[in-house]
Amino acid sequence: MKWPFPYKLDHIGIAVSSLKDGGKLYQALGFTQVHVEDVVGEGVKVGTYELANEARIELLEPLGENSPVAKFLEKRGPGVHHICLRVEGLAKILQQLKTAGIRLVYDEPRPGAHGCMISFIHPASAGGVLIELSEKKSKGAP
Ligand code: ZN
Repeated sequence: MKWPFPYKLDHIGIAVSSLKDGGKLYQALGFTQVHVEDVVGEGVKVGTYELANEARIELLEPLGENSPVAKFLEKRGPGVHHICLRVEGLAKILQQLKTAGIRLVYDEPRPGAHGCMISFIHPASAGGVLIELSEKKSKGAP
């Protein structure tokens, strides 16, 4: 792995109360929903729309009242929830960020959508932005 790793924008996560209603705009724009998945560990149903440059938009519908996305919607209403950067060597990156005093939501990688391993940099350490770090499981995951 080269360091610093050339981060790629993987997707932008947008909180919606329902995929059906939240997806209407993207359908009107001509986007196709390519994937829907319940990520139970994160309490969200994820609807994925692929863009032409390999980046994606993910709509996040809460799976229940205790979902972090439900709390987000309650506090701030629908809108941009997080950005996601594609990385390699996630465990090592998390370690380095932690050493640098950056607050993480999860210290260790955990399962996200699309069979990826993920964690988040807490908005308190990222200028108010929730940053997801995601690694494809096939590459360098334990
Ligand atoms: Zn995401």
